[in-house]
Amino acid sequence: MTDCLFCGIVDGKVKANLVYQDDAIVAFKDIAPKAPVHMLIIPRKHLISVSDIAEPDRELIGQIFQVAARLAREQGIADSGYRVVVNSGADAGQSVFHLHYHLLGGRQMSWPPG
Ligand code: 5GP
Ligand code: ZN
Repeated sequence: MTDCLFCGIVDGKVKANLVYQDDAIVAFKDIAPKAPVHMLIIPRKHLISVSDIAEPDRELIGQIFQVAARLAREQGIADSGYRVVVNSGADAGQSVFHLHYHLLGGRQMSWPPG
């Protein structure tokens, strides 16, 4: 989608520090990390938010969580713990409207989230 920052990263037009890619998914380091490990996992397909996920995306969403688990292992936070977070819509603070999963870890987190 034109004018979408994360589609730009998928297409290689916007630079990012990639940590994983396959034919359906790209993962990269967050530009403003909120934890020692902070990566974003996104589908290559432009979906806006969780609300945009539909039946044909079932496998894709499962794959995204598999990538999250793999990256957590690679980053050494699988045992200490981590969060996979999706901000969806204005009240949740979503700022980039291409579905993305935050993988956060490497420090103690508080609950509930702010
Ligand atoms: P949201 O607020 O939509 O849940 O998360 C958007 C995330 O994208 C934020 O954590 C922000 O730091 C990150 N971000 C925004 N612009 C860029 C960019 O150009 N490159 C990278 N790598 N991350 C970005
Ligand atoms: Zn997009």
